[in-house]
Amino acid sequence: MSAVTVSAHDVERAVRQIPDPEIPVISIDDLGIVRDIVVEGDTVHVTITPTYSGCPAVQAITDHIGQTVRRCGMVPDVVTTLSPAWTTDWMSDRGRESLRRFGIAPPDGTGPVRPDGPVVVDLSVRRVTCPTCGSRDTEELSRFGSTACKALRRCRACREPFEEFKAI
Ligand SMILES: [Zn+2]
Repeated sequence: MSAVTVSAHDVERAVRQIPDPEIPVISIDDLGIVRDIVVEGDTVHVTITPTYSGCPAVQAITDHIGQTVRRCGMVPDVVTTLSPAWTTDWMSDRGRESLRRFGIAPPDGTGPVRPDGPVVVDLSVRRVTCPTCGSRDTEELSRFGSTACKALRRCRACREPFEEFKAI
């Protein structure tokens, strides 16, 4: 089957809609890792910044972008840039909502929470909302969940374990 020539706009849209290999409910665009897409002639330059430099999903994403671009009859040029580093702030509201519905606590961008009292400041304590019942009374079971990008937590209110997409 010969490739179909499509417009630059369609190629860009197809690339942005590629699902994250680890969390298929969220696109790489909503995840905020697509930094730039430039179509030059029949070459599509895509710049991505992975969520974690050691994240094994990077290769899968790169391959998927290459396949998508080639299917559009164009030549892929995927560049990975680590600077500036990806932050959870780049994740779209739609992406956060998708994560929550998928049962993964989205990063809320608050980072470490200081207790209200003036006495002890434990910066390791972060408040993560349970995606099942919405309680903020949750505890971390493991710093690493199914992948290095996620932590395993449990809700003290409904006792449901869940994964947290780690904020960095
Ligand atoms: Zn809960």
